[in-house]
Amino acid sequence: MAIFRAVLVVVFFVAACAPAPEPVGAPAEDGSIPENESISVNDTGHAALARLDPALLAAVREAAVAAQASRGVELKVTSGWRSAEYQQRLFDQAVERYGSEKEARRWVQPPDKSKHVTGQAVDVGPTNAADFLIQHGADYGLCQAYANEMWHFELLTSRGGECPQPVGDPAG
Ligand SMILES: [Zn+2]
Repeated sequence: MAIFRAVLVVVFFVAACAPAPEPVGAPAEDGSIPENESISVNDTGHAALARLDPALLAAVREAAVAAQASRGVELKVTSGWRSAEYQQRLFDQAVERYGSEKEARRWVQPPDKSKHVTGQAVDVGPTNAADFLIQHGADYGLCQAYANEMWHFELLTSRGGECPQPVGDPAG
């Protein structure tokens, strides 16, 4: 009986220590990719890629092949399409982190302004992959949109065209 009670105590302890459940909304459905994680450009079943503008997705996948072939760099996606709810969550977190909406908007847009919500923006990593896109992205129409976000790319020119100068930050 004592052993049974001890087991019960252990079970309760483990249950109490279990990590909190994931936030509401399955990650794959709202496009969320946990911070410091990334997905392959071939993971096209993930909502972050499945709901991107198809032309943007095609450009990113082609650029990833080129990055691998020419530099041995694996270009991964750290963020793509985001649901409006997910974007709002990120914005709320940024307001908390930076202390004001004005400051937060330098880094994260509210849902009605974000190109991620419309499927027209992609964040890439690691740094050497972002470097590759800064140098060669224009071959695929991919341009760095914001000077302070070297990882954020949008289709801002035609293939082989010239990228516009990145603007200072998302608020600018
Ligand atoms: Zn972005």
